[in-house]
This record gives sequence, C-alpha cells and structure tokens, in this order.
Amino acid sequence: MALSCKEVVELVTDYLEGALDAASAAEVQAHLALCEGCETYVQQMRDTAAALGGLDVDTLPGDVQEDLLAAFRAYHPRG
Ligand SMILES: [Zn+2]
Repeated sequence: MALSCKEVVELVTDYLEGALDAASAAEVQAHLALCEGCETYVQQMRDTAAALGGLDVDTLPGDVQEDLLAAFRAYHPRG
C-alpha cells in the first residue's frame, strides 16, 4: 500500500536518521520518486539538519518547523 504525503512527513525524520526498517524506507523512497513535493520537503529537511549539524528535527526552533511545513503545504495545497 502506498504511503500518503502525511505519512511520509511523519516518517521523514526516522527516514533521514536511517531508523526505519527496510520495508518502510522502501515505501518512503517509492513515494519520493513519484511525489515532487515530498521529495523537495525531504531535501529541505536534510539541508536544514545538515546546517544545524544534526538530524534531530524535534529540537528545531518552532519557526523553522513552520517554515518547512508552509513550504510543504505550498506543494500540497489540498493537504
Ligand atoms: Zn507526497
């Protein structure tokens, strides 16, 4: 079963940390291959995490998280 965009967003932190099991990671990758919005979102997450020197997005300042979510919503205007 294909993941929804919302599910990809929920999994992206674990995905970037390599914390997903192989099957889940493969599903995320399959979604990213087909969904430009999520691919861009993941790239932004990766860039942001690299800029901060870590992948712990739970500790990102709230405004950064909101910027990322706003960018994500711009690619998914219908949610
Ligand atoms: Zn998507």
